[in-house]
Amino acid sequence: MRYLSTRGAGPMSFTDILLEGLAPDGGLYVPESYPQLSGDDLEALREILIDEGYSRFAAEILGLFIDDIPFHDLETITRRAYTKEKFGTHLIAPVHPLEPNLWLAHLSQGPTAAFKDMAMQVLGQLFDYELGRRHQTMTIVGATSGDTGSAAEYALLDAERVQVFMLSPLGRMSPFQRGQMYGIDNARIINITVPGSFDDCQDLVKAINADQEFKARFAIGAVNSINWARLVSQVVYYLSSWVQVSADRGPVSFCVPSGNFGNICAGHVARMMGLPISHLVCATNENNVLAEFFSTGVYRVRASTETFVTSSPSMDISKASNFERFFFDLTGRDAQTVAHLFGQQLPATGVISTRDQPYDGDPARLFGFQAGVSTHANRVATIADVYKRDDYLIDPHTADAVKVGREHVGAEPMIIMETALPVKFGSITQEAIGKVPPVPGRFASVLEAEQHTVRLDGGIDELKAIIERQSIFEAASSI
Ligand SMILES: *Cc1c(COP(=O)(O)O)cnc(C)c1O
Repeated sequence: MRYLSTRGAGPMSFTDILLEGLAPDGGLYVPESYPQLSGDDLEALREILIDEGYSRFAAEILGLFIDDIPFHDLETITRRAYTKEKFGTHLIAPVHPLEPNLWLAHLSQGPTAAFKDMAMQVLGQLFDYELGRRHQTMTIVGATSGDTGSAAEYALLDAERVQVFMLSPLGRMSPFQRGQMYGIDNARIINITVPGSFDDCQDLVKAINADQEFKARFAIGAVNSINWARLVSQVVYYLSSWVQVSADRGPVSFCVPSGNFGNICAGHVARMMGLPISHLVCATNENNVLAEFFSTGVYRVRASTETFVTSSPSMDISKASNFERFFFDLTGRDAQTVAHLFGQQLPATGVISTRDQPYDGDPARLFGFQAGVSTHANRVATIADVYKRDDYLIDPHTADAVKVGREHVGAEPMIIMETALPVKFGSITQEAIGKVPPVPGRFASVLEAEQHTVRLDGGIDELKAIIERQSIFEAASSI
């Protein structure tokens, strides 16, 4: 299996793109074709999940996309990533019925109580494995709106060959999220706060990656959802959810609370592989760039000053970094068109429209997409309603998906992706049900830990200076 950039570069092997992150032409790596699953293949996979469990199932799916790591090693990687100790359940991502025809896929049972753990735990193991094999070290420069950062830092705590510089928007994360990230006291994990929004953080990461000399000097890699290894790890739970829900082998739909379009893009990949998915419903909060695209065909990104601070903060994104992968398929995999649209037109005008394109790209008809918007009032009402009606406490991101998912339930089961536990978002829970969420025992000390951050007031030059000053790996050295 080879990988191509959405803007034309490549082909590359899996382990090369694993360590590289963003392609040199600014595009995102995608497999040159999607592996196809027949009905018999799905049956065989169903049996593997039921008989041998999630980690073996995950190794099978990863093996379809990764041919430069022996299968036996992939099994070890997923076995270390998906343990009952880390996820509190041997099922790893269990699915439960919530209401008639509405199901909840629990993706947030991992060490940082958000679905990011599902991919990040695998990514941490893959980095450790491949860097060890190559006798290399790596510097991760990432951006987070809350959950990516802590999931990455916890996944890389034991990866001795990796140092992490994580940018987060100052004052925009919940106290629990801050405690979880900034409470880490480790020279390999540096938290940098940026006065601004997540998009400002992400722009700085992109600027670092655009400097080829600096990137090579520090062997800079990515853990953001642009990394294909994360995306492919997320494909796994679409398949496992389908196995759990569709005893009759029939089609299901998913509703996904979306920000950077990573989670739902994995659903798109699963659908392209042949998993019977009727609809992929994209739920957004007040930052509704994606919902607007799916209803109008116009993708209009917004500046950070136009990005609302909401009570589902991990979705406060107005420039969805994975969207280019989907658009690549929408154009019939036309790298030249994508390079023009995302490399030139979008930076210049902030807008891409499917209306004036030479291709026939209807996301709903071709790829089953639907979309909807949820607001703060909807979140509060939905958390309260699900708590009362279904006796289950959901977090605000999952509430956005329940609200939009309920509006799109059809004949087939609708699976809501639960992306975080409510403990991360105390104040909206208090507002909705009149009390703060229970703190699972393993998170009891998070709010008390002393916090460690470096504040970035300048731009890209100051960020480079921080990396130069605090790097523990001399210039892309080998250890
Ligand atoms: C990251 C995140 C999202 C958005 O997922 P994308 O892959 O960026 O679309 C939604 N909910 C929670 C809790 C998250 O952490």
